[in-house]
Amino acid sequence: MANRTVLITGASRGLGRALSEEFANQKDHLILVARSGSELATLAESLASKGVQITPFICDLTIPEDLQRLADMVADHGQLDVLINSAGLGFYKPFLEHTQEEHDQILDLNVRALIHLTQLLVPLMTGNQSGHIVNISSDVGVNPIANMAVYSASKFAVRGFTLSLAKELRPLGIKTSLINPGIIDTAFNNSQEGSKEPEWSLQPKDLAGLISQVVNQPGYQLVDELTVHPLGQDY
Ligand code: NAP
Repeated sequence: MANRTVLITGASRGLGRALSEEFANQKDHLILVARSGSELATLAESLASKGVQITPFICDLTIPEDLQRLADMVADHGQLDVLINSAGLGFYKPFLEHTQEEHDQILDLNVRALIHLTQLLVPLMTGNQSGHIVNISSDVGVNPIANMAVYSASKFAVRGFTLSLAKELRPLGIKTSLINPGIIDTAFNNSQEGSKEPEWSLQPKDLAGLISQVVNQPGYQLVDELTVHPLGQDY
């Protein structure tokens, strides 16, 4: 399992950071993507001390030129084994209180950037007839809740995209997995990371461990979709 190259978007915080720590423990080479250079640099430094090769890449995934820069860098590196699309955003508030700018922010990051980045990077996997794409969706991409209409719509899009792509890429030897978490204890939606009990919200470290199990399944086995909730969540 070692010596893989794993690209994680949204690596600076929350689930993406926990995934970075999880895969660093497995001695993978990590390409870590987010906008905030200082948070990425701190993380990269702490993970590199485990003897792992870390490539932090500052990038706004909603800017097409940034996406292309990222894809070019990965192509120059020449190898990509696992792509984890974790970056995402959403706002919990009534639909009529959302601005159109907020709609665009959600759709640009959660849907457009995820689709475009995947398309730019899949050719690196088809060449080797192997690879694994993991898209982080949400339980509201299956069962919507009130006050998250546009976010839910974006995650329905991620689900449709991922499940269709899985069928297209499977004959090419590429695995695709969709993860639908319930509430996670991160700073998403202006909440405070580390503030919730495990009974009420998934702990990023536990969820990252589960996702690494999805990625580490034997070659002949695929977890195509996984929904996880904290026991206390009503869903
Ligand atoms: P988070 O703590 O808010 O972290 C979001 C990450 O995305 C940060 O690293 C952020 O870094 C990065 N990001 C945001 N905008 C970006 C952009 N334009 N370009 C590049 N990177 C960007 O969120 P999270 O809770 O870990 O969420 C991770 C995923 O899980 C998301 O897809 C989310 O929809 C999903 N999810 C979350 C929950 C929950 O309750 N938290 C539940 C279900 C599903 P920078 O700000 O440095 O760019």
